[in-house]
Amino acid sequence: MLIIGLTGGIASGKTTVANLFAARGVPHVDADVSARAVVAPGSPGLAAVVEAFGPTVLTAEGTLDRRALRQRVFTDPAERKRLESILHPLIGQHLRDSLAALRGPYALLVAPLLLEGQLSRTVDRVLVVDVPEEVQIRRVMQRDGSSREEAEAILRAQMQRAERLARADDVITNDGDLQALAHQVEKLHRFYLDLARD
Ligand code: ATP
Repeated sequence: MLIIGLTGGIASGKTTVANLFAARGVPHVDADVSARAVVAPGSPGLAAVVEAFGPTVLTAEGTLDRRALRQRVFTDPAERKRLESILHPLIGQHLRDSLAALRGPYALLVAPLLLEGQLSRTVDRVLVVDVPEEVQIRRVMQRDGSSREEAEAILRAQMQRAERLARADDVITNDGDLQALAHQVEKLHRFYLDLARD
């Protein structure tokens, strides 16, 4: 099966694009869903995280205390690396298993951090949803109720637009209305169907 990796910055339109592909019968898996699944209560992933970081990263209910964990690794690159070395292989495996269960000529792997780690090795092509920063900031502010400063800080912490675009095989420009977006999805959908057939 042909696998298309779909990525883009915050509020670029990844979910909206994935839904437009879904309306054309194209299934997707979501890296954020896998990232939660591998540390679900009772999972070996959660046990490994507790073994490495201690029970203080658990809530009273026995679920992962993401805030506590984030604070723990935030200022310590070595700790962060240790956490990633536990989680990334598990997330990668969960995504590959989820993809293997899908049927169809091609599927999408939706991942905000597709280009930051090893995940891009799992995909055949990289599709970037690109959006001018001003539009992106406006959508973050509208959707999340963030201030302009908060939105700008998030953008600064992410991979920069030019770098992401340099890694793209295909680009969707999401600076217009939803109809313009659907039109681009339709064009790419036909292209991917042709690729999958070949
Ligand atoms: P995140 O990674 O932050 O979860 P995302 O990349 O999945 O975001 P979406 O949730 O699809 O982005 O879109 C972000 C916001 O912008 C949503 O509120 C969505 O409805 C809106 N949006 C996306 N594309 C358009 C568009 N072409 N016109 C107007 N609004 C849009």
